[in-house]
Amino acid sequence: MSNALLEFSGLPQFDRITPEDVAPAVDVLLGRANAALEAVTAPDFPARWDAIAKVLDVATEQLGTAWGAVSHLNSVADTPELRAAYNAALPRVTEFWTRLGADERLYAKYKAIDPATLTSEQRQAHKNAVRNFVLSGAELVGAAKERFAQIQERQAELSQKFSENALDATDAFAYYATEAEVDGIPADVLQAARDAAQAEGKEGYKLTLKMPCYLPVMQFAHQSALREKIYRAYVTRASDQAEGDARKYDNTALIGEILALRKEEAQLLGYANFGEVSVVAKMADSPTEVVTFLRDLAHRARPYAEKDVADLRAFASSQLGLADPQSWDWPYVAEKLKEARYAFSEQEVKQYFTAPKVLAGLFKIIETLFEVAIRRDSAPVWNPAVEFYRIERGDTLVGQFYLDQPARTGKRGGAWMDDVRTRWLRPDTGVLQTPVAHLVCNFASGVDGKPPLLTHDDVITLFHEFGHGLHHMLTQVNERDVSGIGGVEWDAVELPSQFMENFCWEWDVLKHMTAHVDTGEPLPRALFDKMIAAKNFQSGMQTLRQIEFSLFDMLLHTEHDPAKDIMPLLAQVRAEVAVLQPPAFSRTAHTFSHIFAGGYAAGYYSYKWAEVLSADAYAAFEETVGSDGQPSAETGRRYREAILEAGGSRPAMESFKAFRGREPRLDALMRHQGMAEPVAA
Ligand SMILES: [Zn+2]
Repeated sequence: MSNALLEFSGLPQFDRITPEDVAPAVDVLLGRANAALEAVTAPDFPARWDAIAKVLDVATEQLGTAWGAVSHLNSVADTPELRAAYNAALPRVTEFWTRLGADERLYAKYKAIDPATLTSEQRQAHKNAVRNFVLSGAELVGAAKERFAQIQERQAELSQKFSENALDATDAFAYYATEAEVDGIPADVLQAARDAAQAEGKEGYKLTLKMPCYLPVMQFAHQSALREKIYRAYVTRASDQAEGDARKYDNTALIGEILALRKEEAQLLGYANFGEVSVVAKMADSPTEVVTFLRDLAHRARPYAEKDVADLRAFASSQLGLADPQSWDWPYVAEKLKEARYAFSEQEVKQYFTAPKVLAGLFKIIETLFEVAIRRDSAPVWNPAVEFYRIERGDTLVGQFYLDQPARTGKRGGAWMDDVRTRWLRPDTGVLQTPVAHLVCNFASGVDGKPPLLTHDDVITLFHEFGHGLHHMLTQVNERDVSGIGGVEWDAVELPSQFMENFCWEWDVLKHMTAHVDTGEPLPRALFDKMIAAKNFQSGMQTLRQIEFSLFDMLLHTEHDPAKDIMPLLAQVRAEVAVLQPPAFSRTAHTFSHIFAGGYAAGYYSYKWAEVLSADAYAAFEETVGSDGQPSAETGRRYREAILEAGGSRPAMESFKAFRGREPRLDALMRHQGMAEPVAA
């Protein structure tokens, strides 16, 4: 039988792909991609966008599609055989993409393309391609080029070591607590802690710094001394303040070297600092714009954060007998205050959100707002639980998607959207390829023949991922690399996803998506009101916390001198932003993996940035809502055309302005998070 990974005539043959197909398919496809690269970079090959795309993009598309199918199966239908085949091929595939992105001959060919010969979509894709080459050091020559490569390699090692230290420092800690010490901690957490201790032949409860243990201890343990012990270990992980043997995981020196290398890299590329490099491919124009944005938001959130702290202090003193709460007391105090104010059970809420009802509600919103119809469709799938749908407008197929809802063995946790293929007017056949998406969740299955019940968080997750999916599927762009989410700036890519989340907090929308699993009754309004209040609990403090991280990150990559200690800068940022000051021994920056080991360096602000965009975009719907409480179809059409259909074909700011008629404002986010009314005295 033929290799299922080498079939490109239709949708992926998910039911036929076997682990044995992987290596031979990768051989063939890498061979074709390499041959295509050699062909288009030959001196006599024309420097024309279409000509290059017809050869190179068609070959890399096949590699991307086949490899996408393999890694998808690795995520949702893992077996030891498939994992082995995946891991064996991964380095070869990665090596190809890295080499392609740094190929000087290809860069020269792209640079030689006359922009006047391009459509506006092609111009944007071409601009991105050239920019990415430049940021990969393609303009550098001689010693500078060599040094740039050394820096990349060393940075990869340092990031890896940083993560390992953070992980090892977390894993290395254990405290075996006695029965008396663990009072207040939830039973399921204690059961796991007791089992862990017993597995090692020890007495008591093994408490660790991993989230599922650390968080409940901080929130629920009645004993302040226990919380202090665990807190101290947590905030000194991978630092010079760690106790005893754990100090060997200290990340201090690595942080200094990483920052120095980033600065050197930036200067080689002709920028003053790494902050400037980071924003080149983002929606924000400059580090200054980001810093101003963060400080503005901090200023506006501050009165609410101060009120949050005052509430906590008053509650701690009057109800918990804590006159002067310390850092390790705040999560405990907050949990108790939250219980006192908004007690409702997730369990109760769940009874109203059955998966079919929620999905029908979601589809209805999409169909009404974006003038499409969603219908069941069929395709080869990897599991009988997977559903396949098509999105149509009139008689036209717009896109298709796989929906894989239930959690199961061999499926990675979490939820995500991934592309199967992208909308593209194919240069080889002249045929328009429609987009296809994966939408993956991990919902609990139904019990006793009843439909699956979703938590409200599950519902939000579903809407979020569909937001990404719609961005990918409703695009009208014909150029592959700027179609859908392709080429969208990183700090803007969460706009459509977070936008969709808003509907989950809209009473007139939400009530139609609920029906009690036994009685069919809709969600009671009183319960919904409690959910809303709990959502905005301490949003002032939470906002300032995110701003503290974001501002520290940006200043670290702009103003900070890498030869100096980072702690004074962190102290300065906290003095400016935070309403609660952590103790002097706290070293939380030493495990800030997002910026030292992830892709978020000088980019952590993106979370807040995109929240502002999505809230402000959603406000346009609030402003035009109908008398029946339903969102306006006209606003839906404008949003679809300006944001979803345009995809990455123009700068995100242009798309936003096309929709909103102005630049983004902070007001809607403040209001959505309960920070619009004046703070009560
Ligand atoms: Zn997302």
